Amino acid sequence: MHKLTPILNPLTLPNGAVLKNRLLMAPMTTCTGFYDGTVTSELVEYYRDRAGSIGTVIVECCFIDPKGPAFPGAIAIDSDNKISGLSKIANAIKSKGSKAILQIYHGGRMVEPELIGGRTPVAPSAIAAPREGATTPQALTAEEVEVMITKFGDAVNRAIKAGFDGVEIHGANTYLIQQFYSPNSNQRDDKWGGSRDNRARFPLEVLDITHKMAERFADSSFIIGYRFSPEELEVPGIRFDDTMYLLEKLAARGLDYVHFSVGQLLRPSIVDREDPTPLITKFIAMRSPELAKVPVIGVGGVVNKADAESALEHGFDLVAIGKACIAYPDWADRITNNEQLELFIDSNKREALNIPEPLWRFSLVDAMIRDMSATGRKYKAGVYQEKVEAEALKLKINVTLDTDRITDIMLIPDDSLDVDFTTTFESLRTRILVANSPHVDAITGATTQSEALKKAVSRALATSSKEHVIEEGGNPAAPQNYDVVVIGSGGAGLAAAIQAHDDGARVVIIEKMPTIGGNTIKASVGMNAAETRFQKLKGIEDSKELFYEETLKGGKFKNNPVLLKEFVELAPEAIEWLAAKDIELNDITITGGMSIDRTHRPADRSAVGGFLISGLVKNINKRDIEVLLETSVADILFENGAVTGVKVVDEYNDSRILNAKSVIVATGGFSANREMVVKYRPELDGFVTTNHKGATGSGIAMLQKIGADTVDMGEIQIHPTVEQTTSYLISEAIRGGGAILVSQAGKRFYNEMETRDKVSAEIIALPEKSAWVIFDEQVRLNNKAADEYIAKGFVVSAPSPQELAVKLNMDLHALLATLERYNVFVEKQDDEDFGRKTALRHPLNQGPFYAIRIAPGVHHTMGGVTINTDTAVLDAQKQVIHGAWAAGEVVGGIHGANRIGGNAVADIIIFGILAGRNAAALARR
Ligand code: ADP
Repeated sequence: MHKLTPILNPLTLPNGAVLKNRLLMAPMTTCTGFYDGTVTSELVEYYRDRAGSIGTVIVECCFIDPKGPAFPGAIAIDSDNKISGLSKIANAIKSKGSKAILQIYHGGRMVEPELIGGRTPVAPSAIAAPREGATTPQALTAEEVEVMITKFGDAVNRAIKAGFDGVEIHGANTYLIQQFYSPNSNQRDDKWGGSRDNRARFPLEVLDITHKMAERFADSSFIIGYRFSPEELEVPGIRFDDTMYLLEKLAARGLDYVHFSVGQLLRPSIVDREDPTPLITKFIAMRSPELAKVPVIGVGGVVNKADAESALEHGFDLVAIGKACIAYPDWADRITNNEQLELFIDSNKREALNIPEPLWRFSLVDAMIRDMSATGRKYKAGVYQEKVEAEALKLKINVTLDTDRITDIMLIPDDSLDVDFTTTFESLRTRILVANSPHVDAITGATTQSEALKKAVSRALATSSKEHVIEEGGNPAAPQNYDVVVIGSGGAGLAAAIQAHDDGARVVIIEKMPTIGGNTIKASVGMNAAETRFQKLKGIEDSKELFYEETLKGGKFKNNPVLLKEFVELAPEAIEWLAAKDIELNDITITGGMSIDRTHRPADRSAVGGFLISGLVKNINKRDIEVLLETSVADILFENGAVTGVKVVDEYNDSRILNAKSVIVATGGFSANREMVVKYRPELDGFVTTNHKGATGSGIAMLQKIGADTVDMGEIQIHPTVEQTTSYLISEAIRGGGAILVSQAGKRFYNEMETRDKVSAEIIALPEKSAWVIFDEQVRLNNKAADEYIAKGFVVSAPSPQELAVKLNMDLHALLATLERYNVFVEKQDDEDFGRKTALRHPLNQGPFYAIRIAPGVHHTMGGVTINTDTAVLDAQKQVIHGAWAAGEVVGGIHGANRIGGNAVADIIIFGILAGRNAAALARR
């Protein structure tokens, strides 16, 4: 066994051949062959460079017959004169110590006539492929089918002669072999078609002849693999049980491996979209002991070591790596050294990476190329001195910049520096240098100092990029052009920016505060979504309909039904969108007003906000999306009926214009704007707010200026559980985890899991206008937030309820009676006093016991600007304001009169993504 990671363990195949580790380079089209399919020297070097530490290289598919090439630049094994070129590839790979396997195929009806000299392609039946402009192929005669099988045999013989260690029969990607097995493309009525057994005959005979050739011409270690596409969408078409049937038959005749052909390792069914089970899980559950002896290869989305390890954990025996092997020829070495890799290729590195020109232009690779020449020069190189000021801390740093990088950050020596800060400094310095960005996570326990240091580095960057513009003869105050301007760096803004960028737009994020994250960073409980993969994995049965109804009920039926429908519909996709960006919310809890666990949160049950922002910012950095901090948008520019950009003002009060066809307003709500809150709800004067200072509603005002309408402005939510000295919100997850609310008299007074408005009203109705959140050790253990509250000094704790009551100056007997009675309700799962139906998790009987004093605070503004389901901002006539988009708390209508806990995070991600997509599409049109 390999001590470090199972992916480096060798594997003995059924025929006795030993693969030195579990990693293979996936077969990928390079389009680099000569016109006749002969191998080019460029291609030989490409493979040589990628062999070595990786156990096996599966060379791209090679067509076995002149009518077989499915794309331009395909390589061939259709005649003996191809052997010598192919042998160069085999030798190159083997000389580096990897095994070399060659994939063999025939494109069948997927072949375009122009690739075969204008001739008509051949297929099992004369049925065109279901794609636009596809040629109707000629059906092979029974005799031609037999000949085709011998051609596969000849190809195997040539592969052996060329020195390959094995062949992979390409039974996937809707090519000829799959066409024979598919009831869609094969509608023959002879022995090659009709029944499933007849359709399986062709793949089986190809396997038989492969075995025969290997027995005759190769030694027993010659590897024979089979690649398959697990399903077809067409009706009729191959379903997963058909695939299992064929694989069983193939395995019975002897195979050394089977190889999934899918885009994602853990892809579920594409036919049954309701079923989130990864196909590999099904495969393992369904396979016979015979098939279980055949190793299975997984492929799709493997970039880092953890991805490959996860493949093995899910039951694959081997892992094929695609794009990452193109971007990193020495991929296996890098991941062995625990390098964390990103899937991109420096635009200047084609030659260095030995990527053939046709492959470089291929869409799959093209999408990975990052233009380093454009991003290459951003700063004027030099040393920039900045002040770092945070409370008592006052010092200076030198930030050294190269034209494209932060190369160093140094503290200017000062005797008064305390050791505490130097440790924080060192850790943060490393984070910033590694990320080449000041937008990194703060050091735990030193947030204020971290933020001050990050701000100082941001300033150095801003100054030097202005100097760079001047040096280049430009004017830093001159208007700049973008496709999409995003205002606000909360969850909605960041999600929108990432999506717009990924859709090809040039994006900038404008944030008026010195830090990224807006109010989102304070979000605690999680993200609601129904019918998600993670719910299914936990066996939670939920429905979108119920989610819709409960949100509508919680919102007092005031929600905009169309937006709410869209919200509920897109929520599971948004959960997946995050997961694909390494922001996995796979633990699930519940919030007030919901009847089912549907609040998704991080696996470690920590608060969602910090986790979400940290993950989104990593994605922003990875994409090199520009973020301007301490810069506020003063106006959205609007000319001739369309948005044309924004006017921004930076921290030095310099203003400039940013031109853009799309402006996404993601400026959050107005809870921190006392005047505005009181204007709509005079009785809230004097209430504290849980929100950050930036929640001033400026986005609403700016949009109103260009004609936007608003809705529900008076619907302002107060959150029931806010620590009053710091305005810190005590997450609903604590009650959702089993805590109760108790008055100063030591009594429960209401169903703690009711909606926020009702619980708040009951607390305000108490004589002391505040209450205690009380919980025990079991609740603490399940909620990381509780530890945070303890660390912040909010929590009174005692070993027993009696001692707790004393500390809270509460009637001891009353508290004991309350706990006892509540614990009985938990046992019976029936709250006779207040009808609490959810989160009756466990009796509160394990010390220590904890209490936090809370009262309501202004928390969320449900009202805001009006949008349509595309997130386009609407005017009073419900007409779209061209180029103006809005997402997140700035928008009104989704939550009606009361927002359910966990629905704000869902809102910002769902509509953020949508805004990013639509804004990019408009700007690039
Ligand atoms: P959401 O939850 O909708 O994403 P957040 O409150 O998390 O909203 O984030 C909104 C962000 O927008 C905050 O960081 C806030 O400082 C920023 N913001 C608000 N108004 C402006 C403005 N005029 N210019 C730039 N940024 C703004």
